[in-house]
Amino acid sequence: MPEKIFDLIIIGGGPGGLTAGIYAMRAALDTVLVEKGVPGGQMVMSAEVENYPGFELIGGAELSQKFAQHAEAYGLEILSKEVTAIEPGLEHHTVHLDDGETLKGHAVILGTGGNPRQLGISGEEDNYGKGVSYCAVCDGFFFRNKTVVVIGGGDTAAEEALYLAKLAEKVYLVHRRDELRASSILTKRVMDECKIEILWNSVVTAIKANDGAVCAVDIRDVKTDETRELAADGAFIFIGFDPNTAIVPRGIKLNAEGYVVTDDRCQTAIRGIYAIGDLRDKYARQIVVAAGDGATAALIAAHYVESKKASDACKLDE
Ligand code: NAP
Repeated sequence: MPEKIFDLIIIGGGPGGLTAGIYAMRAALDTVLVEKGVPGGQMVMSAEVENYPGFELIGGAELSQKFAQHAEAYGLEILSKEVTAIEPGLEHHTVHLDDGETLKGHAVILGTGGNPRQLGISGEEDNYGKGVSYCAVCDGFFFRNKTVVVIGGGDTAAEEALYLAKLAEKVYLVHRRDELRASSILTKRVMDECKIEILWNSVVTAIKANDGAVCAVDIRDVKTDETRELAADGAFIFIGFDPNTAIVPRGIKLNAEGYVVTDDRCQTAIRGIYAIGDLRDKYARQIVVAAGDGATAALIAAHYVESKKASDACKLDE
């Protein structure tokens, strides 16, 4: 029996991958989506999503479920496995899975997202799960009526600081500059929240623990070089994000920050391989943008697969 070749293999079940799945199924592509965790990606971790059109306020986990249910309603197969490598080919691309199996596909959409960046300071790794966290929604509950430090000045730091302010007694937002990178609406909310105190021009240089739990952080003022210890029960780090490029095949171009470079159709440097969502170099990293990427890539992949199959059939006839 000839080996099965999928029209499309989608790697990653975040908003981009699931939207690609919806569009691919509607375009009648024989598609499989491979996701190592739960569908939804980083969206699952968001307590509240307020900027996905059609939903003024929805939990990230609920929105993830809605995306997955929508894709599955069109018959999308979601494989719960990890992809270990991708071997590009002229005839088809081969996707290697952690159980030793392989999948073959005419087209592949990469939607592997990324991971929160680490500060790399003393006490960060040792105290992970003991007061050091990269997810307020996951761990905020443990800091009810306590004091926490949030590090970073972007949208994530602002959103998570606001979330933590609902639970904690006091939130210090430590930012290395004198102005937040976060959007003006989030910046205003942070400024208006009386439980949040912003420590401007400051960096956390160490996280300290006592009896297996975080008890303080060392802070340095980058303008005066003054250092001080600040008592805190938790340190939440939101300083950006590193794209998951471990399985991106050689031959696909990455930019200086490590994001996959594509054209405006999400096409990478290898024919039939597309990159979407937070993995891809682009201006805004938003659920709606990832979903848009997924739709674009699936539509272009459908066009590519159709042309490729027609050309393969012509070659057979000759
Ligand atoms: P980000 O926008 O890259 O912000 C990272 C923040 O961490 C910056 O303020 C940066 O400072 C600071 N930082 C970086 N390295 C640091 C270090 N070593 N020490 C101290 N501070 C450091 O990352 P993000 O907040 O995770 O957001 C990622 C993307 O997702 C953005 O495009 C964002 O708009 C989007 N996002 C949107 C929403 C929303 O709209 N609801 C929510 C979350 C995220 P500098 O400012 O000085 O560089």
